[in-house]
Amino acid sequence: MDCIFCKIVSNEIPSVKVYEDDRVFAFMDINPLNDGHILIIPKAHAATIYEITEADFLAVTSATHKLAAAVKKALNPDGINLMQLNGRAANQVVPHLHIHIVPRWSGDGLTICKWEMVAGDIEKVKAVAEQIQTVLK
Ligand code: 5GP
Ligand code: ZN
Repeated sequence: MDCIFCKIVSNEIPSVKVYEDDRVFAFMDINPLNDGHILIIPKAHAATIYEITEADFLAVTSATHKLAAAVKKALNPDGINLMQLNGRAANQVVPHLHIHIVPRWSGDGLTICKWEMVAGDIEKVKAVAEQIQTVLK
């Protein structure tokens, strides 16, 4: 399979590694949005949240928890954005699941995770919630 992140895990493509365990690999983003921009990925290929196993996803989130604390301690950002994109419509570029840690500093000018709040139509919100709850039952 021709997957950039699988090649990073197998060391065919070099990366700046910050963490590794049985299931997880974490490395610096090559196009950092800010200092300390890290990507956390499962070692086993999974394109999106729909393909990854629960065990691998838990391992990735657990490593993210550890790394966020390390970033706070090392760089003391004012905030941290966690991002995880699934599918082209959600702007996912590399189809191997990854969580971004993006440290944030007040006034850094980044516009990620920033949107205008517009009140929803409550009847539509309730109808959609019902659709989801029906599937969960
Ligand atoms: P996505 O939009 O899929 O969530 O983001 C993919 C991320 O992977 C981008 O932030 C991009 O900079 C990063 N990236 C793409 N190719 C490479 C690479 O070869 N090495 C590293 N370290 N990061 C990469
Ligand atoms: Zn892969």
